[in-house]
Amino acid sequence: MGNQSTNPTGHYVDGEWIDGRGSETFESEDPATGESLGTFHRGTDADVDVALEAATAAFEEWRALSHPDRAEYLWDVYHELRDRHDELGEIVTRECGKEISEGRADVTEAWHMVEWAAGNARHPHGDVVPSEIAGKDAYMRRKPRGVVGCITPWNFPIAIPFWHVAVALVEGNTVVWKPAEQTPWCGQVVAELFDDAGIPDGVFNMVQGYGDAGEAIVADDRVDTVLFTGSAEVGHEIASTVGGEPGKLAACEMGGKNAIVITEHADLEIALQAAVLSSFKTTGQRCVSSERLIVHTDVYDEFKSRFVDVAERIAVGDPLDEETFMGPAIEADHVEKIRRHNDLAREEGATVLVDRFDLEPSELPESPTDDVATADGGTTDGGAAGRGDFADGHWVGPFVYEIEYDSDLRCLREESFGPHVALIEYDGDIDRALEIHDDTPYGLAGAIVSEDYRQLNAFRDRAELGLAYANLPCIGAEVQLPFGGVKKSGNGFPSAREVIEAVTDRTAWTISNE
Ligand code: NAD
Repeated sequence: MGNQSTNPTGHYVDGEWIDGRGSETFESEDPATGESLGTFHRGTDADVDVALEAATAAFEEWRALSHPDRAEYLWDVYHELRDRHDELGEIVTRECGKEISEGRADVTEAWHMVEWAAGNARHPHGDVVPSEIAGKDAYMRRKPRGVVGCITPWNFPIAIPFWHVAVALVEGNTVVWKPAEQTPWCGQVVAELFDDAGIPDGVFNMVQGYGDAGEAIVADDRVDTVLFTGSAEVGHEIASTVGGEPGKLAACEMGGKNAIVITEHADLEIALQAAVLSSFKTTGQRCVSSERLIVHTDVYDEFKSRFVDVAERIAVGDPLDEETFMGPAIEADHVEKIRRHNDLAREEGATVLVDRFDLEPSELPESPTDDVATADGGTTDGGAAGRGDFADGHWVGPFVYEIEYDSDLRCLREESFGPHVALIEYDGDIDRALEIHDDTPYGLAGAIVSEDYRQLNAFRDRAELGLAYANLPCIGAEVQLPFGGVKKSGNGFPSAREVIEAVTDRTAWTISNE
């Protein structure tokens, strides 16, 4: 285990903090102010190579430990996550712009995941199967696959890594993890937690960097399983690269074009809450955020007027402020990506109901004045000289439109990953709502709001998705449930519970007792 420096801006490999083999660095940016939070080494093929070498070398000793012994390291991490909950939540908020309750929730979800994975180490593990021949015992054992490459997105920068890494480690694999390039500070913090826990050298490795470092992990023969969470574009590329290599496996969790169906039997107060939370919380930047509201004609006008009223009034604010509902978008490129979706909707015939995408200067929060921490362990003063000015942040507001449903509309099929929401009026029964609901290439999450149990059951049984909610928002993952989608949103290995399938092989073991 290496000494933890006050400024470990490199990679964590074989128990040491190392500088990159390449000379390039990159900045972590505060999305609320555009200020740099720290400078990090950009991982290269050579950095990935040494990390994979370390993970490969550490595997035999790590797998030889019992499940509970491996889990002991995770329990140390669990206690740190709980003890440092507020401090780490603030780092999440600083680096990815989520409002502070969401920043803390990211850390809560991380320790929930560690609790589940480490607790699992003491659960029965495998199956005893009756043999067809007397005098033989037969059972199924799981064994670790080897080296697991983990590649994660920026929007849950502490929680999602644990969905991958905690399960992979407890099951006896070693890990090379690449955090998202937008959230290297969170990547550093997670690696520090493992370092503090004294995880044996080479068992957990972290390489900072961009997609090219991810590609190097995916392409390397020493990697047995790739666990990826991120966009469908990248995930399907990874799945097809890995699919061509015998014995290698990729579990990919990807985006969605999620919807809430609000039927003629909906309680509109519940519908409003579900829609507002699902569309605007985290500034629409959740894989499960809802970008389509499919509303029955009998309640359409009333729902529309109430939803529009809220969207007109939602305030964006300093993400560190407890009162804030919506923080900034992650980065300038992402603002432009959402803007292109807004333009596409207009081109495809949308009637725009709320366009607050480019906020007026008067709608921006007051610039910060408090002292805050930086990634190198120091603090800055608030205000323009320190934390920066909110005028330079990546602020966006709600964009809401209504559009007549047509199967060819790209704005109803493609994920914007922002506060971009379509209202679609439908007439007819639940079959019609389901037809519209299912008409996207994705199938991640969705909700129905209705007081009619037959409609709820139809949605539960027939909607094409992995996560279905009734009379609730379509956000709110629980780690003891599988988390994943169908169609373009997943490739058959939902996160949490089912990750075990992706990081272990089963051996059918038959013993003669004669
Ligand atoms: P992204 O796909 O751009 O990046 C995700 C990760 O992949 C990053 O670490 C990135 O550096 C890496 N990467 C990029 N190109 C790569 C390549 N060619 N090979 C290997 N790695 C590569 O996604 P993002 O912008 O960070 O996150 C937003 C997306 O993630 C949205 O589509 C969202 O819906 C999805 N998401 C899905 C889930 C889920 O559980 N289903 C959860 C959160 C986010």
